[in-house]
Amino acid sequence: MANTGWNEFEIGAMLRSFDGVVTDNVAGVVQEDRNYSQNNSFSASVADWRIIKPVFNKNYCIDCQFCWVYCPDISIISRDKKMVGVDMDHCKGCGICVEVCPTNPKSLMMFPEQADEETEIANWTEKQSKEN
Ligand code: SF4
Ligand code: SF4
Repeated sequence: MANTGWNEFEIGAMLRSFDGVVTDNVAGVVQEDRNYSQNNSFSASVADWRIIKPVFNKNYCIDCQFCWVYCPDISIISRDKKMVGVDMDHCKGCGICVEVCPTNPKSLMMFPEQADEETEIANWTEKQSKEN
C-alpha cells in the first residue's frame, strides 16, 4: 500500500492503530506481539534524533519498576515484573528513568548515543557515600 501524505487525508479520517479485529483483551499480550498497523508509531523507529541514551546495568537492579512506571514513552521493557531492558526504537533519551532509579549506584545511567554499552557497564560508577 502506498504511503499517504498527512495533507492528503480527508478531514476527519481515522487511522487505526491495529490491523484486523481488535478486542479489548490486549492487556495479556506483550507489546511486540500486538497486531500493529503501519500507522502505529510502534511499527517504526521514532528515536532517530536521540543524542544520549540510557544504559541498563542489571547487576544493581532491584526490579522496583520505577523506571517502567515513569518512562513517558513506554520504552522500559518489563516481563513478569522484571526489568529487562530499554526499547531503543522508541526511547527519546529524556533521562527520567535514570532520575527515578533508586539504587546506589544507579542501575540506569545516561551516555552518549555512540557509547559502547559493554564498555560503560564494565566501567560503571562506584557506590556513592551519603553526604553529611
Ligand atoms: S530515557 Fe526517557 S524515554 Fe528513554 S527509557 Fe528512559 S525514561 Fe524512557
Ligand atoms: S528503576 Fe532502577 S532498580 Fe528499579 S527496575 Fe528500573 S533499573 Fe531496576
